[in-house]
Amino acid sequence: MKKKKTTFFLLLRMSLAFLSLAAIGMTFAGSQSFSAAIKIQMFPAIDRKAWGIVAGILLFTFLFGRFYCSVVCPLGILQDILAFILRRKSVPAVNRRKIRYAVAGFTFASFAAGSGFITGMLDPYSFFGRIIAFIRNPPYLAGGISLIAIIIMTVRQKRMFCSAFCPIGTILGACAKVGPFKMKLSDKCLKCHRCTAACPVGCLAPDTAALDNELCIRCLKCLPVCPVNAIGVSANTAPAEMDLSRRKFLTGSLTTAVAVGAGVAFARTARLSRRKTPDFTARSYNGAGVFLKMHELPAVRFNLQRKCPAPQNKAF
Ligand code: SF4
Ligand code: SF4
Ligand code: SF4
Repeated sequence: MKKKKTTFFLLLRMSLAFLSLAAIGMTFAGSQSFSAAIKIQMFPAIDRKAWGIVAGILLFTFLFGRFYCSVVCPLGILQDILAFILRRKSVPAVNRRKIRYAVAGFTFASFAAGSGFITGMLDPYSFFGRIIAFIRNPPYLAGGISLIAIIIMTVRQKRMFCSAFCPIGTILGACAKVGPFKMKLSDKCLKCHRCTAACPVGCLAPDTAALDNELCIRCLKCLPVCPVNAIGVSANTAPAEMDLSRRKFLTGSLTTAVAVGAGVAFARTARLSRRKTPDFTARSYNGAGVFLKMHELPAVRFNLQRKCPAPQNKAF
């Protein structure tokens, strides 16, 4: 009975993800009916200063985990589809925490200091937008490079972009890590590792009864494969896990601090370059989340700007 329930939730989650991707795809194709799917994308919401949406996503993630990553984010869903097509198997967890924090620190610092260049490069919605732009208009080089990059990462590890580079995923992971409800392995676990073979981000380690809720994207793929239903959700009574290794903590903090400083320096340099080279404004980051001005895609630009207007362009 429980197996049927877990399979039902998995199918429900996959159906919602499919609908979400279809809604975004149709909006890119010109339909105005499903543009709400674009309005709840995180970086465009930050750029539009839609703080209610941002707070809603963060609160939901805090309470229930990173469902945003398995249902809402088009780049995450695209990686799942690519992994399915390429028949990639899951690989054991590699926690690239330092890289994640450094990338997020650099990205958000440069964005706050006035440059949208790195944001536009790494924001998952922009990333996805470039790929769609390439499909619609193959000479669009940045889109082709983005598609090749995501394929290479998926071949190396399912959802590698999510677990190593995505600045949005890092923020959501930090929220999920301190939230009140956690997915956990119970002592019924047989250590058969069927769940690790199903997990796209490698956040399960049955040998140590660990499930990293910071990385877990709540895809629910591990639930139906467990023969004894040893994976469940429970209230988190323990304090948030802390890395107590002083050396690791210091090097992690130092890396993030250097990344933040580098991000601010980058933004300043980019602003100076822009003053010297006005043409750079042609590569500005559009609030809808795609480097639209880098190429000529009037239909996409028109649809996104109408439905998701950018109050101002932030040039790098
Ligand atoms: S980690 Fe980033 S790219 Fe991956 S699903 Fe989440 S928001 Fe999207
Ligand atoms: S599938 Fe279930 S029993 Fe097997 S290792 Fe994972 S949690 Fe344990
Ligand atoms: S632990 Fe389960 S729900 Fe979380 S990412 Fe892995 S397979 Fe998905």
